[in-house]
Amino acid sequence: MSRYLSERYTALKPYVPGEQPRDRQYVKLNTNESPFPPPKEALDYAAAHARSYELYSDPEAVELRKALAETCQVPAECVMVTNGSDEMLNLAFLAFGSEARPALFPDITYGFYKVFAEVDRIPYREIPLEDDLTLRLEKYAGKKAVIFIANPNAPTGLYLPPEEIARLAQRSPDSVIVVDEAYIDFGGTSCIPLTQRYNNLLVVQTFSKSRSMAGARLGFGVGSEQLMRDLQTIRYSLNPYNVNSYTQALGIGVLRCADEIRRNCRTIIGNRAYLTERLKTLGFVCTDSLTNFVFARHLRLNGGALYQMLRDRGVLVRHFELSRIRPYNRITVGTREQIDRLTEEIERIMKGL
Ligand code: PMP
Repeated sequence: MSRYLSERYTALKPYVPGEQPRDRQYVKLNTNESPFPPPKEALDYAAAHARSYELYSDPEAVELRKALAETCQVPAECVMVTNGSDEMLNLAFLAFGSEARPALFPDITYGFYKVFAEVDRIPYREIPLEDDLTLRLEKYAGKKAVIFIANPNAPTGLYLPPEEIARLAQRSPDSVIVVDEAYIDFGGTSCIPLTQRYNNLLVVQTFSKSRSMAGARLGFGVGSEQLMRDLQTIRYSLNPYNVNSYTQALGIGVLRCADEIRRNCRTIIGNRAYLTERLKTLGFVCTDSLTNFVFARHLRLNGGALYQMLRDRGVLVRHFELSRIRPYNRITVGTREQIDRLTEEIERIMKGL
């Protein structure tokens, strides 16, 4: 730390992203990326349609928002695009969080919520999940808050149906409810249609998982026109050209390949069942994940030790040193070959114990 760092940030603990190591070739099952590249037609579309690079990108992302509005069946005024969904989430903290409207989120959820609250200086409260890691939305109802719910939740993978989110929105007219649907395409039903009924609901999605675009950085939010106007005010005060021209074009290209993306999701859902079965046979307990990862703890093996032994053998998974979930590892659902390699290594580890 230099002596110039603002005293505001000296205690700040930044978000720790999953490793992206270069020291050797890993079976990379630690950051929930897609095992599939973007569709070829999408890449061709982007190459042909990206705005000239000497010009700024379209700050309104008109074409991409139009395509998203059609996909989501909402007016384009209700859609905003961002540099990954992380940016959208941060804008929501900045736009709606305050002393008068603190942030609420579960104690076990996406780690960035706490970091955004800290860096944006928004007061926050973490609400404990139940002992079985399920989330009871009643605990959030009737307050004046900005509520962040990852649905399905990460890293537990557990999902709540839209009816429960609707009930929370209805019972909490003084709160803004942000539903982070990063993993919704792997078996859940989106709350996007509810945004046209509840003006306090913001749904956030990403192109990083089901849509194979993690490296291009594209996320979006859908909400009432009034909410989106507030978010635009903040976005235009920070970074009007937040999504680059190539990414805007690739996003449209990927939306045009909806069938291939759906097929990829079906493959991942099938592989998730395969991975879960294999893990259970090996003595793991898995949560009922509706995402592209499995959250698993072994009945005898220590979570942190297993993570390290797998890493030494060239397989990367994600382990969180947090009290209630220390026995678990979060394992991205990869290809069948990746799953087989993972389970073979686990078998070898178990034989060597
Ligand atoms: N929300 C959740 C729950 C996530 O797991 C992630 C991925 N780290 C994100 C949001 C952010 O994804 P991105 O910024 O790549 O859209």
